[in-house]
Amino acid sequence: MFEERPDRDAEVAFVGRSNVGKSTLMREITGHTFDTGRKPGVTRSPNHYDWAPEDFVLTDLPGFGFMSGVSEEQREATKDGIVRYLEDRADNVLVAVLVLDGKSAVDIIDRHSGEDEVPYVIDMYGFLQDLGIPTVIAVNKMDKVDDRDERLDAICDRFGLYPPWQQWQESVAPISAKKGDIDALNEAIRHHLHEAERDDLFKFF
Ligand code: GDP
Repeated sequence: MFEERPDRDAEVAFVGRSNVGKSTLMREITGHTFDTGRKPGVTRSPNHYDWAPEDFVLTDLPGFGFMSGVSEEQREATKDGIVRYLEDRADNVLVAVLVLDGKSAVDIIDRHSGEDEVPYVIDMYGFLQDLGIPTVIAVNKMDKVDDRDERLDAICDRFGLYPPWQQWQESVAPISAKKGDIDALNEAIRHHLHEAERDDLFKFF
C-alpha cells in the first residue's frame, strides 16, 4: 500500500489524526481538488502530489487514530505503514508537518497521557525528531479557538516546547485551513527549506 511513490528526491510530508483538516490543508496548499472517491478519513495509502519537472513531492500520509468502521488491526497497520514510510524516506523528507486540531488536541493528548502511555501525536513528534526530520506542528482550526495564546502555550507545553509559543514559530504554526489562513505554516516550512538550501521550493508554499 505504500509503494507507489513517485521517484522524486525532495519531499514534504503531512501527518495527522483523522479529521484534523489535513485534506482541507492539502487542497489549500496544492490548489488541487482531489476527490479520491474514498470516504473521508479512510485514506490508507499516501497521496503524492508531484510537479514535473520539479524534483519535489508533497505527501499526504494516511490519517491515524480512531475512525468508525476501521478495526484496531487496520489502525495499527496504518501506524506501522506511516512509521516505515518515514524511516525509509528520512533522508529525503525536508520537512514534516504534523497537523493538529487546535480545538481538541490538548484534551486528546491529556486523555491519553498516563504513566506508561504516550499519546500518539507526541510519540510521532519524538519519532520525527529522532529521525532528524525538521517538523512543524500545524495547529489547525484556529478559527474555532478563542483563547488563542493559552491554547498554543498548552500545546507547546505538551510537546516539550517551553512556552510562550511565540518563540517556536518555526515549529508551531497556528492556521485555519478552511479559511485559507495558512501563512504561518508556509513561513515555517520556508524556514526549514531555506536551512536545507532549497529556496527553489519556496514557490510551493
Ligand atoms: P482530514 O480527515 O484530516 O483530512 O480532515 P478534513 O480535511 O476532511 O476536515 C475534517 C473537517 O474539519 C471538515 O468538516 C472540514 O471542513 C473541517 N475543517 C478543516 N479545516 C478547518 C478549519 O481550519 N477550521 C474549521 N472550523 N474547520 C475545519
